Amino acid sequence: MTTRYGASRADVDALLADWGEPRYRADQVWDALWRQQIALEDDTALPRALRDRLVDALPLALDPVTELTAHDGMTSKWLWACTRDRAQIETVLMRYPERATVCVSSQAGCAMGCTFCATGQAGFERHLDAGEIVEQVLRAAQASPQRVSNVVFMGMGEPLVNYDNTWAAVERIHDDLGLSARRITVSTVGVAPAMRRLAAERLPVTLAVSLHAATDAEREQLVPLNRRYPIAEVLDAAAEFAGAKGRRVTFEYACIEGVNDSPAQAEVLGRLLGAFPGVGGAHVNLIPLNPTDGFGGHAPAGPSLEAFAARLRGHGVTATVRRNRGTDIAAACGQLRSRELMPQEPPPSARMAP
Ligand code: SAH
Ligand code: SF4
Repeated sequence: MTTRYGASRADVDALLADWGEPRYRADQVWDALWRQQIALEDDTALPRALRDRLVDALPLALDPVTELTAHDGMTSKWLWACTRDRAQIETVLMRYPERATVCVSSQAGCAMGCTFCATGQAGFERHLDAGEIVEQVLRAAQASPQRVSNVVFMGMGEPLVNYDNTWAAVERIHDDLGLSARRITVSTVGVAPAMRRLAAERLPVTLAVSLHAATDAEREQLVPLNRRYPIAEVLDAAAEFAGAKGRRVTFEYACIEGVNDSPAQAEVLGRLLGAFPGVGGAHVNLIPLNPTDGFGGHAPAGPSLEAFAARLRGHGVTATVRRNRGTDIAAACGQLRSRELMPQEPPPSARMAP
């Protein structure tokens, strides 16, 4: 049985035709799902009997386990159990005055084993299918008064090792939800061959590459995949993407005090990325480390992050310091799940959403 957001337009048309419903009903259902982005259960424009029948025939793929909203009311996070096998995944909604961004998971767990990442610490469970990825966007959209304008693949998992499902989800977010490709960001730890494949796709999505260090010796300590795809190879694939798509590439850099935040390291990174080819060169997003249970480090102080960014700018590399949102609800990658699997009280500063 196909799930609600796994179903294509043709699937919905066929289902309603099979039930002998007039053609306009299929338009109406599709519109509710993808344009109005409302829950079918709440679609009072549909006759009650048809609505019940649809809810049965097109089941949801995700059951909420926990829903948390940060104090500011602008960041929400869900822990879901996939209805298929109860695998747990997370989704984050970040609301802004005029728009909203949804951060989706592409896998339950992750096999890449980055040392500072809660998802990496917990290991790999399975790939998500495209319906499970896309449903995260729609379920978050239903909870957001602001229209979802951006989707980022920065939740649990490495999207480029689940390539086909990730790409199918990107296409549905673009074609059915109507987001422009540049508002869909795929974040990768640096799976070079898959980055080249992405460069050849029809949609120019935004690419973010998780770098975290400027030398192979240092990066290997944080990102085990660096042994397979070292920095030069990752940058080469990123440059191919930038060239093919005419898009600036973003490099993510999780800043860890005493590990990768020294002025000397900023200089090496600045020189490395200052030479990055392509339109607009490289952009660096400095992410203060979110502490996790399995890794001892912590984030540098604000001024030292700003000094690091200033050194990068000295090399012609644009750099921004990401403001962490929702730290009071463990909004960083994999953290809610690891907390849930080792039952504890929710963080005191978080409250359950109504
Ligand atoms: N697997 C992909 C996408 C998911 S992780 C990737 O690694 O890019 C999304 C981002 O969150 C990555 O840049 C990752 O390095 C970062 N991240 C993971 N754990 C973090 C932590 N504890 N603190 C700060 N950033 C973290
Ligand atoms: Fe996987 Fe990304 Fe976490 Fe690394 S940082 S373990 S690639 S989710």
